[in-house]
Amino acid sequence: MLLNSPEGAYSLPGQKEQKTAIIVIDDFGNNARGTQEIMELPFQVTVAVMPFMPHTVNDAKRAHAAGHDVIVHMPMEALSGKKHWLGPGAITTELTDEEIRRRVHAAIDNVPYAVGMNNHMGSKATVDPRVMRNVLQACKERGLFFLDSHTNYRSVVAKIAGEVNVPSLENHIFLDDIHTRSAIQKQFMLMREHLLRHNVCIAIGHVGTAGKITASVLKEHMEKMSEEQIVFKRLSEFLKPVNKTMSNL
Ligand SMILES: [Zn+2]
Repeated sequence: MLLNSPEGAYSLPGQKEQKTAIIVIDDFGNNARGTQEIMELPFQVTVAVMPFMPHTVNDAKRAHAAGHDVIVHMPMEALSGKKHWLGPGAITTELTDEEIRRRVHAAIDNVPYAVGMNNHMGSKATVDPRVMRNVLQACKERGLFFLDSHTNYRSVVAKIAGEVNVPSLENHIFLDDIHTRSAIQKQFMLMREHLLRHNVCIAIGHVGTAGKITASVLKEHMEKMSEEQIVFKRLSEFLKPVNKTMSNL
């Protein structure tokens, strides 16, 4: 059954399917709570850094030096909330095509070592085909993949990414929407359950209010899950061509 899943291409018949977990941590760039702890994790994660923040460049350099992936955490318009909450250089739906592309390029220029992009908020922007076509086209020009944080189930990212020919993925689980240790623990149980049925699970957590709790639960569960032969990968590692993975088996 697992071989029929979208991730089945990563397995060979007769081989025990490798279970891959990918952890993405959002909202770097502000030296928010948990930053230090995530940087020092003994496992590699993907670090999403907001552009044009006081610690953007420093956080991206630190993450890269620690062996983590760096991606741009692009502020994008939400259905609710004030636009100025989004932060500088945000993508909003009233911008022209040219301005959207200019802002995406400027954000990529501002985050050293970025190999991909995901959306900060974005429940309005990610359902707008014109906006996403421009965002994804700019990503393509810079060789970046796009991870849809899936803040709106009507997101057009996968469809438009297919048309523009940009590698795209979406996350399966949010780890810390509720900021308590027990709630975050529960999300890790959901991750394990997801991996019983699928070969890959992408989960998103955050630095910020609950950042230190997220980091400590993360460390504990990553250790346990590694003992259970679940492999943690960075997004760029996971997106390497299938043939390379197959030749390693
Ligand atoms: Zn965010």
